[in-house]
Amino acid sequence: MKTLDHLINGVPSAGTSDRTGPVFNPATGEQIAEVRLANVADVDSAVAAAKEALPEWSAMPPLRRARIMFRFNELILTHEEELAELITQQHGKTIEDAKGDILRGREVVEFACGIPHLMRGDFTEDVGTGIDAYSIRQPVGVCAGITPFNFPAMIPLWMFPISIACGNTFILKPSERDPSCPYRLVELAHEAGVPEGVINMVNGDKEAVDSILTHADIDAVSFVGSTPVASYIYATAAEHGKRVQALGGAKNHMVVMPDADIEQASDALIGAGYGSAGQRCMAVSVAVAVGDGTADALVENLSPKIRELKIGPGNADDIEMGPVVTRQAQERILNLIDKGVEDGATLAVDGRGLKLQGYENGYFIGGTLFDHVTEDMSIYKEEIFGPVLSVVRAQDYESALDMVNRNEFGNGTAIFTKDGDAARDFTERAQIGMVGVNVPIPVPVAYHSFGGWKRSLFGDTHMHGMEGVRFYTRIKAVTSRWPKSGVREGRSLTMPTMQ
Ligand code: NAD
Repeated sequence: MKTLDHLINGVPSAGTSDRTGPVFNPATGEQIAEVRLANVADVDSAVAAAKEALPEWSAMPPLRRARIMFRFNELILTHEEELAELITQQHGKTIEDAKGDILRGREVVEFACGIPHLMRGDFTEDVGTGIDAYSIRQPVGVCAGITPFNFPAMIPLWMFPISIACGNTFILKPSERDPSCPYRLVELAHEAGVPEGVINMVNGDKEAVDSILTHADIDAVSFVGSTPVASYIYATAAEHGKRVQALGGAKNHMVVMPDADIEQASDALIGAGYGSAGQRCMAVSVAVAVGDGTADALVENLSPKIRELKIGPGNADDIEMGPVVTRQAQERILNLIDKGVEDGATLAVDGRGLKLQGYENGYFIGGTLFDHVTEDMSIYKEEIFGPVLSVVRAQDYESALDMVNRNEFGNGTAIFTKDGDAARDFTERAQIGMVGVNVPIPVPVAYHSFGGWKRSLFGDTHMHGMEGVRFYTRIKAVTSRWPKSGVREGRSLTMPTMQ
């Protein structure tokens, strides 16, 4: 069985821990590898490498770091097929969807290619007579990123390209469920010219994460994952003096207004609800239909489309939806569907009991649709993270908006309507970080920033775009004066002012 290593100081490392975890192919249920689970000493080695590489790397002109990013971008492109296969094999999503995962990540690398401009400071001449002031952005130091299983290319790429382009060094701790794509990305970064020690990767679980959160030589931590872990990461890392951004879970609502084109709205819901088997933090899991007529039309339109979804292993031709990531995830989702039925929701399409010939041990669940879901039900309250869509009926627009705003999560939301007034009001009043108007998965492009509100984000700064540059840099303000030698102005004990 293949054992997956860490990558420290530019080379594969077995580390010193004897703990490993299994990596499965979710389509077959087979264990395909074991991954090393780092201990404190392994994290220490990665941090030591990053710390040693920092002075030289941070002193390199940003233009030269940008040139390495250009090469990295090209290498990801030329290795797209190989990376997509790794993703599909360990995550389960379809090859086409895996390519989307890679492309959305690569766009952040393209953004990082502009780092000389993005890090540019401000200068003011003559803030006082003969005195100039300027602000510069400097790297924060040694940064770490802890990432979830669901985007093994995009989410690591949200973090380390901007971080290292800004002059920091980095330790990536990807999900232990699908670590091979992030590992390959780190290898490609080295091939592009990133010097050893600048980007390191440790595999692991809570033990590795805790060592990162409490390590005296780590200055900033980026996290993406579930809300309970995000809140723990934020509190622990902040208590240990680190800058933190911790993005959490979601329950994304799509409001469908009575004037919406039902065919368009239902196609959008199929993609947003069932793409990647619902395992996207921007997946729509709740359709809020305004008015019973809208809800009836939506359920009638959605049901056959859900039954016709082409489900199978992600590397087969013509497949639209793969399995979920683990046996535990499959069981959890099936239990939640049972609970939805017990709680009295109407099961319009039942995805339980799906068995695919030749893939009987795969973690498949059929597309599932509930109608008449209410806010007190577990299927509404919990983030299901599976191919399950709930239709909630709202009497009018105001009660739909209130429901969106009452929810504890604030990652993404969307409205489908032909009414500009309603759309504008929704974008203004939704207490949510990312809003779509007739766009079901409003994931911002790389040069805007990604992040939720409420319990979907702990910390202040969103990912990538200018927010990413701000997170990975510190501002320094310099006031400078070059008096003519020999000129004396005398001394003063009063507060300096620019009179
Ligand atoms: P997860 O929280 O289980 O794991 C995320 C990372 O944290 C992994 O690297 C894991 O090893 C580590 N981890 C897990 N448990 C830990 C613990 N107790 N202590 C310390 N570290 C721990 O999340 P997941 O299942 O990999 O990913 C799915 C979740 O991520 C969903 O909730 C989804 O909404 C969320 N997500 C959010 C965003 C976003 O941008 N807001 C994006 C993608 C995924």
